[in-house]
Amino acid sequence: MKTHNRLYIPGPVEVSEKTFEAFCQPMIGHRSAAFQELYASVQPKLQQVFHTRNPVFVSTSSAWGVMEAAIRNLTRPGRKVLCCMNGAFSDKWYDVAVRNGLSAEKVQVEWGQPILPEQVEAKLKQGDFDVVTMIHNETSTGVMSPVAEIAKVVRAHPETLFVVDAVSSMTGVRINMDAMDLDVLLCGVQKAFALPPGLALFAVSKRALERAKQVPNRGYYFDFLEFLKNHESNMTPSTPSVSHIYALQSKLDEMLAEGLDARYERHRIMAEMVRSWACELGFGLFPRKGYESLTLTCAANTRNEDIPAWIKRLRETYHCVFDGGYGKLKGKTFRIAHMGDETPESIRLLLGWLNDTLSK
Ligand SMILES: *Cc1c(COP(=O)(O)O)cnc(C)c1O
Repeated sequence: MKTHNRLYIPGPVEVSEKTFEAFCQPMIGHRSAAFQELYASVQPKLQQVFHTRNPVFVSTSSAWGVMEAAIRNLTRPGRKVLCCMNGAFSDKWYDVAVRNGLSAEKVQVEWGQPILPEQVEAKLKQGDFDVVTMIHNETSTGVMSPVAEIAKVVRAHPETLFVVDAVSSMTGVRINMDAMDLDVLLCGVQKAFALPPGLALFAVSKRALERAKQVPNRGYYFDFLEFLKNHESNMTPSTPSVSHIYALQSKLDEMLAEGLDARYERHRIMAEMVRSWACELGFGLFPRKGYESLTLTCAANTRNEDIPAWIKRLRETYHCVFDGGYGKLKGKTFRIAHMGDETPESIRLLLGWLNDTLSK
């Protein structure tokens, strides 16, 4: 592979040669028996990874396609969406709801804070919500919210469906869809799956599929019922990125060979390494204590480092990059991803390079 800057940004992340090899298999027709076999072969593995018996659909889009689809497919006319907002991605989901002509309300907390169950409960009591949207792992701030506790609160409202974005946490931490009784669990593949960007995966509950039937304006490309109909014959509604599905097949085999629990443990160890490294150097952690992400670290720049200069030195000397802070947090924080194929050994190397390129 040609020399490049190794990615320690929170998506896309490094893609292994093995994954690229799987990606580059000869093309097959998407209505062929070979494709149906490929689709069928990944399905039970996806269900294992999502910890669900619900179908897991494959969308050729980035995660936002499915994030928009979820609110469109599940909100009945005259009913509302409740958006839990604590960072750039979750804030934008509210905006996306409004742009779709849906009436949306907010549970909004400051960046760095988690969403807490009592905050959601207080809003839900006011009624009329068809959907609650939540981001499990707010990638912009490195905050992980307590999804299981929030699921309990939402479940107490039978008319309200719970849509969870696990774009940057899925496969890095256990998210048990069936145990939490979630309605939509979605992710992209360029984060902890360590595949090239361009595919999104989403599991949908029976309850949510029933709801979609009552929603007239679901559109076509992301219609959940089209996905279901095609899924029943091991196909997708339109031509998918077949190459991605080959890469996904290879990656799922790798994940299951490693063992999911071992994979979660590896991510936990890497997270602890990066956090203690940051704190030893005198950086802070941006998230409220106890809610730090397990797949990326968002450090507070309490040492007043010139972050862009640091990244430049790292890139020029060691050919790798991390992120200098998202949006309004640029310069005040920096983010290091420790997900996907990274290991405690590769993270140890990275931390050495980071030390080496610090200014003081
Ligand atoms: C990256 C990310 C997204 C957006 O994914 P796209 O691939 O750009 O659509 C959404 N939510 C979270 C939490 C993310 O980290």
